[in-house]
Amino acid sequence: MKFSTKAIHVGNEPDEATGAVISPIYLTSTFAQEYPSEHKGYDYTRAGNPNFTRAEQQMAALENAKHSVLFSSGIGALTAFLSTLKQGDKVLAMDGLYGGTFRLFNRIFKKFGVEFEILNQRDLHTIDDKLKEKPKLFLFETPTNPLLEVFDIRELTEKARKFGVTTIVDNTFATPYFQNPLDCGADIVWHSCTKYLGGHSDVIGGVMMTNSSDIYEELIFARMSIGVNPSPFDVWMIMRSVKTLALRMERHQSNATAIARFFEGHPSVKKVYYPGLESHKTHDIARKQMSGFSGIVSVEFNLSIEDTKTLISKFKFFQLAESLGGVESLVNHPASMTHASIPEDERKKMGLSDGLVRFSVGVESEEDLLEDLKVGLERFQTSAV
Ligand code: PLP
Repeated sequence: MKFSTKAIHVGNEPDEATGAVISPIYLTSTFAQEYPSEHKGYDYTRAGNPNFTRAEQQMAALENAKHSVLFSSGIGALTAFLSTLKQGDKVLAMDGLYGGTFRLFNRIFKKFGVEFEILNQRDLHTIDDKLKEKPKLFLFETPTNPLLEVFDIRELTEKARKFGVTTIVDNTFATPYFQNPLDCGADIVWHSCTKYLGGHSDVIGGVMMTNSSDIYEELIFARMSIGVNPSPFDVWMIMRSVKTLALRMERHQSNATAIARFFEGHPSVKKVYYPGLESHKTHDIARKQMSGFSGIVSVEFNLSIEDTKTLISKFKFFQLAESLGGVESLVNHPASMTHASIPEDERKKMGLSDGLVRFSVGVESEEDLLEDLKVGLERFQTSAV
């Protein structure tokens, strides 16, 4: 079965009781237990719910996984998995992570004695030495945030496996439509469903997929014990959205490509970051590993923090907001928003200049989006004179 067919049909069988083509939402916290007849599989929604079961079948199918577990948020999913670690365990991660992931390690799990080390892309050649120290977990995000560098998943997971280290790949930016980390050797693939999977900026959720029954059992136990379960309503919304993921991703990608090419030739622009551009540092890895390049484009303008903020306020369709992956286009300024908590010199070392802007390109008309950017740039230039 191909991707779009799986997204629409797996887990989406008609309701057994009524024949409803679309599953009802099981808005119930508890389930009647009929003694002595058989348990029907559910007792309390923190532990499981028919909407979770259906959506987990759909999600697992998309990543070619045996199992998937849904959570209240992307960060909730990671919290659940990290709760399987103990004091003294170490986590190794590649730089370029979502800020909230970094915060979860540094501000929460460090307090409980879980060590956390970030390896800079520049020091990737030392990875074998780091893995030799036997961290419990090796985590990376690809493409990275916000410079969209692509790591070779096969190469990194092979190294980790040699040392018995579990790998987890944040596949939120690429989505299962463009990249399948489990097929490249990862142990766990992780998504914030809040982004492309939900796709409409109206729901928060997270999911992890794995082929390991042991990891699956641990995730189910952690979700129930910590209480990071989603609501049946949110899961129903995510499941509905995933049915159109393939269509949306094609459009996100074609709009993003047009915008990346528009900026690439523009005199106000210093550099464009989009893995689909031949000029991108890791374009070759992206072409080998991904079937498409997704919908995020980062652009470096030759501007100060204040001027960059003024520029991005001039766009009409690109709303200034955190988050990404919705049908509507958004713009984000890492230096004053998502990465503002990182000290300036550290930020610059990471390649995040004051003039760097991240565009989450939506599925509006390409023509309107290009016009919005052209007019915004003109209005900025006129106001700056
Ligand atoms: N991973 C990535 C790449 C993200 O961008 C985010 C959120 O922005 C998360 C994980 C966390 O997901 P959530 O906001 O659903 O908790």
